[in-house]
This record gives sequence, structure tokens and C-alpha cells, in this order.
Amino acid sequence: MNHERSRELYDRALSVAPGGVNSSVRAIQPYPFFVEKGDGGHVIDADGNRYLDFVMGYGPLLLGHDLPEQVQSAIQQRAAEGPMYGAPTEVEVELAEFVARHVPSVEMVRFVNSGTEATVSAVRLARGYTGRDKIVIMQGSYHGAQESTLVEGEGCHTSPSSPGIPESFAEHTITVPFNDPEYVEGVFENHGDEIAAVLTEPILGNHGIVHPVEGYHETLRDLCDDYGSLLIFDEVITGFRVGGPQCAQGKFGIEPDVTTFGKIVGGGFPVGAIGGKSEIVESFTPAGDVFQSGTFSGHPVTMAAGLETLRYAAENDVWEQVNELGAQMREGLTDIVADRAPEYTVVGSDSMFKVIFTRDGASGENHCGSGCRQRESCPSYDACPKNGADVDRAETERWERLFWPAMKDQGVFLTPNQFESQFVSAAHTEADIEEALEAYKEAL
Ligand code: PLP
Repeated sequence: MNHERSRELYDRALSVAPGGVNSSVRAIQPYPFFVEKGDGGHVIDADGNRYLDFVMGYGPLLLGHDLPEQVQSAIQQRAAEGPMYGAPTEVEVELAEFVARHVPSVEMVRFVNSGTEATVSAVRLARGYTGRDKIVIMQGSYHGAQESTLVEGEGCHTSPSSPGIPESFAEHTITVPFNDPEYVEGVFENHGDEIAAVLTEPILGNHGIVHPVEGYHETLRDLCDDYGSLLIFDEVITGFRVGGPQCAQGKFGIEPDVTTFGKIVGGGFPVGAIGGKSEIVESFTPAGDVFQSGTFSGHPVTMAAGLETLRYAAENDVWEQVNELGAQMREGLTDIVADRAPEYTVVGSDSMFKVIFTRDGASGENHCGSGCRQRESCPSYDACPKNGADVDRAETERWERLFWPAMKDQGVFLTPNQFESQFVSAAHTEADIEEALEAYKEAL
């Protein structure tokens, strides 16, 4: 594969952008390929190489790179009519109505511009609403580049995980192992009256993928109810991907108090959103007194892209289609892993998938890949990672050899980080999945 042009571009980028990129995970060594354009389920790089794309922009591209006519024309029309106004538009009301109609716990929505902004605002909302400071988060979860959740350590013994964050932020953050009900119960026994919120991804999508075991989210729900804390589901990845338009909370039958969205809800444009019961979300200014504001929030082009993407998905059985492709991928990978690398595990559900290079915390048969979280009905329940620590033991250097060059050189683009989810889109075909599986077989 020729990468001359990408190499040149990376050299140029290194002199004008820190690390040559605008998001750290994109800085693949020795150099990333630069994308020229997308095409259905593929991307084409600056040297004309074509790759099957399972990064899909890190999740926003439910429909892939070729947007259907109705989505494209809505975006183009909005952009042609002047990109934004600093005044409300009908399309933001329509998108909020769509979200409130489909997501069980959501009555009202505030749109922002990124998943990070959504989680920052949700934490402020919970603190303002409850009058408390502490938040509980899961070890191995990711909630964007925000001060309160960029922490390391366990329980109350946390410190910032990045220079530039004052210790005092971490003082208010308690970390707990995902899927450990006794641990979080203990935290509430000691600190329940100080806890503003439990913030969790319904499925850890940035560190695994790790599914909740049966009853875990129910425990979090009960604890929050008992102690007057808010349960915040960070559905930035899972929103409008896992569980279709009802999102992961619909799939698991749990109603959080507050939900954060991003990625798919903006149809590929910068977006975030905070949704929940009116009584809580109306604490945001100007209805309430918890400050929240933004020049670009509810941007008309983004709102149009998100609304038409979700409408198209609902009208065209897109979730069924992508979930079937996801199942085809996970089943195929499970067979390949059983044959070629039985020490590894296939994880994911709906249209999310990943091979993790560990079976620590795992035993017995290969994971079935269904994400069913049922101890009784899943013959391979024990093979699933249950928390961030199980995943941390993965052989990350093997992943680095697999995704790049082994898969990239066969024309398959996977997420550079061992822990981050990959996605199938409606633009992929069964033949694309078979092609990717052949490449995995070869690489493994
Ligand atoms: N929350 C979760 C669960 C995420 O996966 C991400 C990003 O991947 C974020 C928050 C942050 O979103 P953004 O990158 O749009 O700021």
C-alpha cells in the first residue's frame, strides 16, 4: 500500500497541530492515513487506498458515509439558508420531540455541541438539583474530556488522571468497579447523603465492551432512589444504537433520571444533549438557575442531520438491519477466535463489536457475543469481562499489531485503541462482513 501523501500530510500536520491531530486517538504510529472521502461502508485515503470502515467516526455514522437523499437534502437546505442564527428554530423542537417520544425516561432535552459538553452539563445539573457535590463513576468508563471524570484510583482515593486538573475536582469523584453491587452499596452507606449522582455508561463502550450483569443497573436505580441521588446514563455511544430508538435504557428496562446523548443524535455533525424528566431538566437556565448556554447549541444543520437520520432509521428498519450485521460479525468472530485464538474474547451487542485480547475474569466456553447478560441462559456467561479491571489485563501490544498493520494492510479500518468499540453501519453489506471476517482470520 502506498501512503506517500498521508505521510506528507502528517509531516505538515506535526508542525501546526499538537501531535499532528485534533483528537489524540487519531495519532496512529508511525503515521495515520489521511481520509480523502467516505463511500458507503468504506473510506478512501489521500493515496487512493480503500478501507472497509468499522470506526465509523467513533460511532455517529449509523447510516455510513452515503447519506440517504432525504438526509442530504435536509442538511444542504439548512446550510444554504444561512448556517445558524442565534435564535430558536423549529427543527430543534422537532428533534427534541423525536427524542422525548422514543426514549422512555426523557421528557425534555437541552442540546449542546459534544458528548463532553453533555456530561459536563449533566454533572452540573445533578449537583445543582440535589445541592450535593459528589459523583460516583465506574472504573474504566469514559465521559469525555471533563475535569470531574478524568480521575484514577479507587473509591474515594482518586486523583486527576491528567496534568492540568486541580486535585479538588477528584476529591468529589468516587470510582467503583462496574458490575459490583456490594461495592457501590458500601459507598452509599458511607457517603449516600453527599452523592449528587451516579454517572454510568449503560454498557462500557470505551473499555471493553463490558455489559452490565443482570441486576446491576437495578441496584444503581434503587440506591439512587433510596438516597435521593440522580442516576445519569451516559448514552453518548449507546444512544440510538443499542436498543434502537429506545436506546440502551429501553433495552435494559431501566429509567435513569438524566440521560446524556451525542454521536448519532447529530447525524454525523457535532452534537450533545442532556435529557430527562422536566422537573429535573428545567433546573437549567433560563427555566431554573443551573447555568447552561452555548453559541452553537441546537445548531440548525446538526438538528436537521440528526432529525432526518433518526426519521430515516425509524422508517426503514435500520436498527434491525445493522443489528443483524452486528450479529453476523460477532458470530463469525466467535468461530474464528475459537479456532485461532481461544485465549481471546468477542464482545458487543446490537451493532457494536470488538475482540478483546484477554479471557481474564473469563473461563469456560467462548462468549456467545449476544450481550444477553443472563447468567442462566448464556452458556458462556463466565467468558465475558465484567469490569474495567478484567479488560485492563488485555494484551494491548497484540491489538496494536492486529489493527495496524495486519488489518489495515488488508483494507480494514478498526479503532486504534484496544478498548474502544467498533461499529457496523447500514451502509455495510453481508459481503463486507464476510470480507472483514476473512481479514480477521488471516490476521489472527
Ligand atoms: N461519553 C461517552 C460514553 C463517550 O463514548 C464519549 C466519546 O467517545 C463522550 C462521552 C465524549 O463525547 P465527545 O467526544 O463528543 O465529547
